[in-house]
Amino acid sequence: MPAPSRIFVNGAAILPDRIIEDAAVLCTSGRIRAVGTRKKIKAPKDAQIIDAKGGLIGPGYIDIHVHGAEGADYMDGSTDAVRTANRAHAARGTTSIFPTTTTGSRAQVFAMLTACKQVRDGWRLGDGARIAGVHFYGPYFAEAKVGCHLKSGRRDPDPREYNKDFDLGIIGIATCAAELRGAEAFYRAAKKRCYLVTCGHSNATWTEMAAAFKAGMRHVDHFWCAMSSVSSVRDLYGTPMQGSMEQFVLAEPEMSTEVIADGQHLAPELLAFAYKLKGAARLCLCTDSNRAVGMPPGKYRFGPKADGEWFVSDGQKAFQPGAGLASSIVGMDTMVRNMARLARIPIPDAVRMGSLTPAERAGIAKEVGSLDVGKRADVLVLSRDLKLKRVFIGGEEFRHSPRQ
Ligand SMILES: [Zn+2]
Ligand SMILES: [Zn+2]
Repeated sequence: MPAPSRIFVNGAAILPDRIIEDAAVLCTSGRIRAVGTRKKIKAPKDAQIIDAKGGLIGPGYIDIHVHGAEGADYMDGSTDAVRTANRAHAARGTTSIFPTTTTGSRAQVFAMLTACKQVRDGWRLGDGARIAGVHFYGPYFAEAKVGCHLKSGRRDPDPREYNKDFDLGIIGIATCAAELRGAEAFYRAAKKRCYLVTCGHSNATWTEMAAAFKAGMRHVDHFWCAMSSVSSVRDLYGTPMQGSMEQFVLAEPEMSTEVIADGQHLAPELLAFAYKLKGAARLCLCTDSNRAVGMPPGKYRFGPKADGEWFVSDGQKAFQPGAGLASSIVGMDTMVRNMARLARIPIPDAVRMGSLTPAERAGIAKEVGSLDVGKRADVLVLSRDLKLKRVFIGGEEFRHSPRQ
């Protein structure tokens, strides 16, 4: 039988706006019951003590954009692949996850959604990160901005297709490129069914972004990657130069975005710039990671294992020779740590961008995202420099044994 209560002690607790030194976090029946200085918190006699060994006690991370890990891509479409990736990400600090679709056939997208729903509904601790919803990401990308995704798997939004997907009740975040025919209708339909509606893999102009915003779009996927700039819009429409996705996100306070802080996609000054202009409440960290996480260097497929595009992992980054990066190969623990170290961002803000901010944007902040009383006891034990030591989901410790 699990201990009725656990108390995390001998560490500093990371709250969204501050750090409490010599803290205690008390969890009972899978929920956070008290957070404060140790002196103030009375634990039941039989509470199990979790020693943070002078390190940090933080909330579990939340990844809103992630494709796979340890050999599995969610688009493989099996419950086995979904569980493999979820376990690998839990071992890297992610406790709530939004498995993300790529471009692919109708059948491939539907199989992925169904597999995620099955894993979500039958979740057990050994399955790893809990699915909070699916990020319906591909296939509605602009042809010129498909990036590492399979081009033949992209298409314009079709209500006969996406309404069926929404009906499954698993999609929490939905992406579409704003310039596609039918994009506004997609955004309006998505707004009714999902919490966060986003524009990505797009060459949209300011005008297209403004129309999308009116239809409910509030977020842009992986800032500066596979999105428009003033010069990409000028190349299409000439002068006078127009605003792009970049300016729209920076100018509109309600818009949020996300960065891939793996140190490969964006230099530290861009990470710091995005934080400075959007702030910790509108900037999320995501991994955007693929099946090469935790795998040896080699050749892998991005998206479905049957026909996804090939890429190479050299152990540091994933790329398509001659074409550029193909998502990342690290977990949220690395992203949060990089944000604090490379971009010199205070720890509470770096952690917030990997936990409470994505939770708020995806509409799950009442349940998870911070060490607040009443929330699920998703708790990480970290070193002072944010190296992950232990992972607790719903108050129970998750232990990972990679399959390889
Ligand atoms: Zn992408
Ligand atoms: Zn991606």
